[in-house]
Formats: sequence, structure tokens, C-alpha cells
Amino acid sequence: MTYSAFHPTPRTLMGPGPSDVHPRILEALSRPTIGHLDPQFVTMMEEVKALLQYAFQTENALTLPVSAPGSAGMETCFANLVEPGDHVVVCRNGVFGGRMVENVERCGGIPILVDDPWGQAVDPDKLAATLSAHPEASIVAFVHAETSTGARSDAQALARIARAHDCLTIVDAVTSLGGSELRVDDWGIDAIYSGTQKCLSCVPGLSPVSFGERAVERIKQRKTKVQSWFLDLNLVMGYWGSGAKRAYHHTAPVNSLYALHEALLLLQEEGLETAWQRHTLNHQALQAGLAPMGIEFVVDADARLPQLNSVWIPEGIDDAAVRTQLLSEFNLEIGAGLGDFAGRVWRIGLMGYASQPKNVLACLSALQAVGLHADTSPVAAAQAVYASHR
Ligand SMILES: *Cc1c(COP(=O)(O)O)cnc(C)c1O
Repeated sequence: MTYSAFHPTPRTLMGPGPSDVHPRILEALSRPTIGHLDPQFVTMMEEVKALLQYAFQTENALTLPVSAPGSAGMETCFANLVEPGDHVVVCRNGVFGGRMVENVERCGGIPILVDDPWGQAVDPDKLAATLSAHPEASIVAFVHAETSTGARSDAQALARIARAHDCLTIVDAVTSLGGSELRVDDWGIDAIYSGTQKCLSCVPGLSPVSFGERAVERIKQRKTKVQSWFLDLNLVMGYWGSGAKRAYHHTAPVNSLYALHEALLLLQEEGLETAWQRHTLNHQALQAGLAPMGIEFVVDADARLPQLNSVWIPEGIDDAAVRTQLLSEFNLEIGAGLGDFAGRVWRIGLMGYASQPKNVLACLSALQAVGLHADTSPVAAAQAVYASHR
């Protein structure tokens, strides 16, 4: 058997992640690998931390990328903050809230659930009632942008309620960072994690995290060791912490960190608020174009994520056949439904670099080409939205 180099066909990635990687980021990846303790590299690491503080809108000193995907950022938060016997309120309105429950249990914590239906935001009143009924709770965890359903929860309101009950917050911002308004300090969020492959349009495999003073204090007061050696922030900080003495903890993914640096530069050049507005505009254009095809949204208008459009598959349309045809004929990837939504929902991502008019228009024409019928022109409807914003 002989093998040859792998050259994937370029795709347009409009699913739940990874999203299209910006060419400047791909170029950054190919720069020469240097040592992960090289002074030049250490200087770049400090810039990554500062750029992440901007992206998260925080002054938290403990802000860094964990060397593993978003799920590892999730584990970093739970493993460091939850000790055996701790009571943790988890708001669950989709797949990722369910994973938070798993994390609490594996840390020996006791989960207290606030359940909301798939496709809806977390209900702040339910959280408040649960916290009043459970004064033993000391942490509240929730997902800001539920990628499995396309629902955005009011992170500011939920964090305020948690603080009023003297609880720390753990927030999943994997899909929101860079795509939707997020203000860690103003909203009083204590611990947060994200991912690089959604609205940052970077390669998968890194997880930015940030911890505020109250969270750091809680980690310092732990009675037990963090059960994960790799994710123990006390040890990770020996490498990522500021100061002259940096020690080997693990070999940092050097080139992936060049990529993240470039991705964060792109975000800073565009400006956070401009990026949020761009995601909203492209979402509005997509929505206008889907309407003539009779395609409706799963989530109510006030809780829709602009970067993850969950829509009901119209009656009589073959889910798998459409997605296969989009991929093979148009090199276009859209996301399938998860769990209860499998076969009933498409998840059309407009994340980061992929959130641009060209992709919205291409997706609408491709859907028509593979058999979705429209009464009036979807592309014209989307173009009208762009025209009205010029
Ligand atoms: C993608 C995602 C994750 C997991 O990130 P990975 O990089 O796949 O590990 C966690 N939470 C949410 C909301 C996500 O969308």
C-alpha cells in the first residue's frame, strides 16, 4: 500500500464548528516552530493573554488558552472550582448543559438541575427560585450560547442572580466569544471558557479561559488537590504565569498559538462590537432568505444566536440527502440536528470568518438548487437586507 499527501477539498464551513479559518491564520500556522520557552515565544504568549482579555472584556490576570479543545476548558473550570461534596446548580437547555452535569458528578460535586426545553433560553426566574430553595449551592453553571439548539441565554441576568445568592458562575462561551455581546467583568462572571474554532475562526484545539479574583480565591482555599494533573491551574500557571521564571509544564502547541495570536489580532483590528454587528447582519440576511422557502427558526426571535441558526427542516425534505448533496456538489457543510432534533433540524452556522454575505447568498442558492422550493427569490430577500444597511 502506498500513501500520498492528504489534500482536502476546500469547503465552506457553515455548521456548528469548526468554521472557515481565515487565510492569515493558516499562514501564521506555517511559520517556523520555535521553543516553547524561547524568549520570543514568551513575549508572544503575553500578547495572547492581553488579546484574550480584550476578547473577553476582562482585566482578569488569570486569562490564558488551555492546550486542548473547548471541552478541556470546560473541565478546567469544573476540576479547579468543584470539590467533592460541593453543590452546583447547572442550567440545562441543550447538550452542553448536560455535559456540565457530567463534569460536576465526576468532580464529586452534587448537581442541582434547572431544566429548560431545548430551543429556549435558560429561565432566570427558575434559577432564582432554585437558588432560594438551595442555599447550600455555591456555584452556578450555564451555557451562554447553546450550539445544540441555537438559543442564547441572558448571561448578564443569570450572573447577577448567582451573585445575589453568593454563588460563583461558570459560563460556557465556546460559541459566543467573538460572535455575540459578552462582557466578563461588567456582567460579573467568575469563570469562563471558550474555543478557538467557532467565532474566532481559528484552528480547533485550544480553549481560552478566564478566572476572576473570587474564583482564584476559591481555588486557593481548596482542601483537596485538583484531581487532574494536566488541568490543575496551580501547575499550569508555572508556565503561563507572568514573571521571569517559567517552568516546563507541558509542551505548548507552539504553531497553534501563533494561529490564535493572529485570530485575536484580526478580532482586534475589526473591533469586537463591529464583529458582533457583522454576525447579526448576516443572520438577518439569512433569515430573510430562508423565509420564502418556508424555513422557520426553532428559537424565538429574542433568543436567537446570530452565529448558529437552528431551523426546522420543511416537510417532505430528506435531511441526509440534502446535506450530502450540499457537501458533494457545493462543498458546503451545514450542521445536522443533535439528540431530539436529529432529522428535524438543520444548524446553519455563520461563525467568524464564515459570517459574510458571500456565504449567506451561496447557501441560499445551493439550498434552492438541491430542491428547496421558494415562492419568491431568497437571494433577493437577503440582498434587500444588505441594501438597507448600506
Ligand atoms: C463546541 C462546543 C463545546 C466543545 O468544544 P470542543 O472544542 O468541541 O471540545 C462546548 N460548548 C459549546 C457550547 C460548544 O459549542
